[in-house]
Amino acid sequence: MTQKLPVLAPETLAASGAIPVDSPYQDIVPPLHVATTFERAGDCSYPGGRVYSRDASPAYDAPEALLKELEGGAAAALFASGMAAASAVLQALKPGARVVAPRAMYWGLRNWMVQFAANWQLQLDFFADDADLAELLQRPADLVWLETPANPTWEISDIAAAARLAHAAGARLVVDSTVPTPVFTRPLELGADIVMHSATKYLNGHSDVVAGALVTKTADDFWQRIKTVRALGGAVLGPFEAWLLARGMRTLFPRVRAAAASAAAIAEHFHGHTQVVQVLYPGLPSHPGHAVAARQMQGGFGAMLSLRVVGGEAAAKAVAARLNVFKRATSLGSVESLVEHRASVEGPGTFCPDDLLRLSIGIESTADLIADLEQALAG
Ligand SMILES: *Cc1c(COP(=O)(O)O)cnc(C)c1O
Repeated sequence: MTQKLPVLAPETLAASGAIPVDSPYQDIVPPLHVATTFERAGDCSYPGGRVYSRDASPAYDAPEALLKELEGGAAAALFASGMAAASAVLQALKPGARVVAPRAMYWGLRNWMVQFAANWQLQLDFFADDADLAELLQRPADLVWLETPANPTWEISDIAAAARLAHAAGARLVVDSTVPTPVFTRPLELGADIVMHSATKYLNGHSDVVAGALVTKTADDFWQRIKTVRALGGAVLGPFEAWLLARGMRTLFPRVRAAAASAAAIAEHFHGHTQVVQVLYPGLPSHPGHAVAARQMQGGFGAMLSLRVVGGEAAAKAVAARLNVFKRATSLGSVESLVEHRASVEGPGTFCPDDLLRLSIGIESTADLIADLEQALAG
């Protein structure tokens, strides 16, 4: 993207897709660029500025430019999935590097980190809370990973405090910001060095694209290594997926705000309910991370919450089975509401309570979602 974007509100940038379309037809939406290779001039130069689409597809320009603006970073890169984005960060580390990561985080990534750390000879330490993190960072480290609010109990980490500790220990701070999205949290402004997204979730928002993204505060050597991992490792997103993602991001703000308002109403409604042991939602004052969340999240607490159901695992599964509006499926961040008995998905070794149902709130009528949960809890 060569054209400099004007200073506009994030909502405006997202609605326009941040797309100064360079087309003779004056298109309102970007064309789909499918070329894998680009012609050289007679003198061997590349007048189009591209060589091969594995290095940098023109299909990435608009969504990467928009993400960079929304997160307030220096550069963004799309990947074939959230896991590919996270992997690229780890692969950019040198063998022997020390990584500090949370105990509560996206389960798939945690498991993969453990395997990758063994193969890559990384030293990997897990922290339980902010105090634990401070303790671990009294020794030098290379990378601190954070996810906040964190799956599936929505624990909150203090990004600014973690950034100070990470930097003092000589480490970069990477924040998986899939759940809050740039609508509610801008980790780079709070001191993080890199933001990661599973763009499969809210950024795309329609359960029809698997994609990932990284946004960096500075385009330094480490970022160049990440870009090399993408270009030469080859975990790249297809042009149609990038196009769909760009389309999904145009409605990011209204989708995420509507879903979060609904999630807050649902959390309040079921807080103290006779069939519910606990509602886990950072917007509730009873949530242990509420004070920090209120400080670092702007305008909302996200659209993910979990219910711990009276009667344990069997009761929780039975409640999920009785839901009609909520779809029983993994994943999150789409316009349709999803429910998942998380402990069975995570399997052996999970830290997830077995009475927990994870809810991803969509943009259906809040009243319909509450009524659906009420009838399912009533049995
Ligand atoms: C889904 C998810 C991931 C993994 O992303 P994929 O796009 O499925 O590869 C990582 N972190 C969080 C918080 C997620 O929800």
